[in-house]
Amino acid sequence: MELKKNDIFTVKITDMSDDGSGIGKHQGFTWFIKDTVAGDTVEASVMKMKKSYGFARLQKILQPSPSRTEARCATARRCGGCQLQEMDYKAQLQFKENKVYNNLCRIGGLDDFRNLSSQGTWTMEPIIGMENPWRYRNKAQFPMGRSRDGRIIAGFYAGRTHDIIENHDCLLGAEENKAILDIIINFMETYDIEPYCERSHTGLVRHVLIRKGFSTGEIMVCLVINGNTLPYGEMLAAELAKIPGMTSICCNLNKEKTNVILGKKVYSIYGPQYITDYIGHVKYQISPVSFYQVNPVQTKRLYRTALEYAGLTGNETVWDLYCGIGTISLFLAQHAKKVYGVEIVPQAIEDARRNALLNHMENVEFFVGKAEEVLPEKYEKEQIYADVIVVDPPRKGCDPTCLDTIVKMSPQRVVYVSCDSATLARDVKYLGERGYQVEKARCCDMFPMTGHVETVVLMSRVKD
Ligand code: SAH
Repeated sequence: MELKKNDIFTVKITDMSDDGSGIGKHQGFTWFIKDTVAGDTVEASVMKMKKSYGFARLQKILQPSPSRTEARCATARRCGGCQLQEMDYKAQLQFKENKVYNNLCRIGGLDDFRNLSSQGTWTMEPIIGMENPWRYRNKAQFPMGRSRDGRIIAGFYAGRTHDIIENHDCLLGAEENKAILDIIINFMETYDIEPYCERSHTGLVRHVLIRKGFSTGEIMVCLVINGNTLPYGEMLAAELAKIPGMTSICCNLNKEKTNVILGKKVYSIYGPQYITDYIGHVKYQISPVSFYQVNPVQTKRLYRTALEYAGLTGNETVWDLYCGIGTISLFLAQHAKKVYGVEIVPQAIEDARRNALLNHMENVEFFVGKAEEVLPEKYEKEQIYADVIVVDPPRKGCDPTCLDTIVKMSPQRVVYVSCDSATLARDVKYLGERGYQVEKARCCDMFPMTGHVETVVLMSRVKD
């Protein structure tokens, strides 16, 4: 019998999607069901149907999965931040590693030694998880608004909407966030300062951005305002400054009708406009608008893996493509002769250059532009050279022109850092057909409780 909207059916969840929904098969249909976990048997109701797949809503868990666990956060299901809180952490790690392994085999064409009893030509090293997968984020951005009963609230957007779910103590964020938000809300109530309303484009305080340097303890609070100044800002600063570690309090001006959180201008109401933090021995100055990895503990481990895979002895010339603020470049530069970074966003390169100076690193050089344009141009004109090339592209992966130039430059090793294992696998296949062979791969869980995972792959040039 054909299912239609609101019909109820029973299904066993056998897999998880990239965005953390459970996946089950029923009458040849693939169903995506939020809030379910692989191994659950559930009753679900039909929400939407396409040709071969559909979306259904969880109604009842008939038989819970052995990996099912109680969500720690009361708003876990409604909030758009976490998708896997109801899955045991060990199972999360296993799920992420399997997903990457399967993509590398299925899309990347690597030999599937786990399922076929062949001798592996490559190694999948165990995923790097966190000992404590909570409170790992060094940055939080809370939208401000009013609740139905008129109170000023801070929280997070519900999945795919701009409804604010009240939550002052996200369990992925720093413990200090709650006290900071309570002070800000109290201040706004006292001085009649309105939170921003998206619909009418009125009110003042849009977002509160909080950053903490985990290795220095320094804290930054930045209020994003729909105006030029925050009235009584010094009163707020006096209260916030009582929180240990408070280093920088500032306002970011954003008067646009936009979804983009931050505007361009920042002014300080207390301390400098930046905080300092370290990843390994490398020091960074972080402003409210800087890009900076959100999980410093795992970032260090990810970069260590990339460094290990790069196999540097101190004599190498390395290119770091898609380098952002140069975090990987500076990590590598401590062990290489010379590192060149390429990045499309000019402000990120400004940060990268400043951070290189801050760390007295003179063997790094940065270029602004698209990797697929800068690299071919330098190669054609200047015959640039590389022993090792590191790439860390956005989700869509590398442009073929970029990969073709890498092949022409013929480095010994390519280290591919990826946040999307499907495009990673596609690019690995492309390089595989052009003389590069995967030696090993390792996942690093930068975002516990979410469906995301980061992967590092080492490819070596096959000897002629
Ligand atoms: N390696 C950095 C950042 C990686 S995120 C780190 O670990 O911190 C990917 C970066 O690629 C972003 O900074 C993005 O701005 C940049 N980017 C996107 N498309 C690009 C392109 N075509 N060429 C160069 N950089 C690009």
